[in-house]
Amino acid sequence: MKEITVAEFDREIVNGGKVILDFYSTECPPCEALASKFEDLAQLYGNDVKFLKIFRQGNRELAEKFGVKSSPTLLFFDKGQEVASRLTGGIKRSDMIRNLDSMLTADRVKEIKSLIYPTVSEFDVIILGAGPGGLTAGLYLCQSKINTVLIDIALPGGQVSTTHEVSNYPGFIEPQPGYMLSHSMSEQTRLCGTIYKVAVDITRVDLEKKEVVIDEYETVKAKRIIIATGTTPNLTGAPGEKELKGKGISYCATCDAKYYNDKEVIVIGGGNSAVEESEYITRFVNKLTIVHQFDKLTANKQAQEKVLNNPKISILFENEPRAFIKEGDKIVTEVENVKTKLRQKLVSDGVFIFIGMKPNIELFKDKLELDQWRYIKTNEDMMTNITGVYAVGDVISKKYRQITTAVADGTIAAMAIAKELN
Ligand SMILES: Cc1cc2nc3c(=O)[nH]c(=O)nc-3n(C[C@H](O)[C@H](O)[C@H](O)COP(=O)(O)OP(=O)(O)OC[C@H]3O[C@@H](n4cnc5c(N)ncnc54)[C@H](O)[C@@H]3O)c2cc1C
Repeated sequence: MKEITVAEFDREIVNGGKVILDFYSTECPPCEALASKFEDLAQLYGNDVKFLKIFRQGNRELAEKFGVKSSPTLLFFDKGQEVASRLTGGIKRSDMIRNLDSMLTADRVKEIKSLIYPTVSEFDVIILGAGPGGLTAGLYLCQSKINTVLIDIALPGGQVSTTHEVSNYPGFIEPQPGYMLSHSMSEQTRLCGTIYKVAVDITRVDLEKKEVVIDEYETVKAKRIIIATGTTPNLTGAPGEKELKGKGISYCATCDAKYYNDKEVIVIGGGNSAVEESEYITRFVNKLTIVHQFDKLTANKQAQEKVLNNPKISILFENEPRAFIKEGDKIVTEVENVKTKLRQKLVSDGVFIFIGMKPNIELFKDKLELDQWRYIKTNEDMMTNITGVYAVGDVISKKYRQITTAVADGTIAAMAIAKELN
């Protein structure tokens, strides 16, 4: 592995053989998350591929020439030509391996793979998920001198990091950009000494044995496990939705309705959460249109009556969204009548989608006691039905899912565990 500057670029890359080049920055948590994976893979692939690093801020012109806009960005070269897809953000070991393998012969890849030995590490507590719930549990455990590892399939921060602004987290007078709040939470827990293994693939979780295998070769063992994996909103799947998430399309009324004062919004859905959230959103907006796929709402009668009697709300039944398009400050929602197949365009200032959330429990669903909506049941110490396995935050069965409730759960689980282990 070698650090280069722009002056060495021609020698090392243009006239070099196979190269992986890391444009990195300082004070960059995703770069720190990548560093150990980069070093580790340099040991394995270093005889075949040159592992080079270049400081992005110190070599701006080169970064600009290659259109590198964020750190870290990994570029792959063969005889001076860029090959394979670029990797950026929370870069996984498996994505790097895929690209490196694509540059080598199948026989050589097989030889390299035979050199990967399984490793085992031991901790007191494994936390799965580094959102507000997991990060808070990590902070409390760390301050109790309990050896803790935080494992996340993405970078730390959870849903807050993708939230535009948070104005209801106590302690901040001004609304905080979500990524800043989650960055501060994450740094506080990391600087305390909690070990992070983030942007990893989780291969297997054994809750009874308290073992988690990551990236196929690394077994992490502990005395306790905290599940803090949160939820994922169901998506409509219509084109434009992913791109406009957080930029006009929202999945949280408490969080975002206040930004639509005196404006007009569309709500997709017709169940309890769509109907109740619509009622809440009309405290702010002038006009709200519910787009629902069936010919009647599926929410309970009481909730239905409220929206049917609300003069700000109109309902477009038997329609489904087919595309979301940004036009200036507006969002155009193209909807299709499920019977006539006729399409129309609805112009609004924002769109809220409430077609359900799903708890992230795929890896351990078979062993845990779940409620009817598949959220994990816990006792008042946040312990699940499996001894020594705790769950906190949005993934558990509860009524209100907010940052404050997730951090409260994380606190409770950590204090209960600290009491047991000490
Ligand atoms: C758009 C939006 C805006 C919001 N705005 C607000 C607001 O303004 N105020 C407020 O209080 N609340 C807000 N919320 C709700 C708030 O974000 C959540 O209540 C809170 O983030 C829950 O924290 P958590 O730690 O339980 O889960 P999450 O924040 O969801 O974090 C879960 C973490 O687990 C990781 N993970 C998932 N699966 C696995 C796995 N198998 N293994 C390991 N890790 C895994 C994820 O990558 C993630 O980092 C908002 C939610 C959304 C979607």
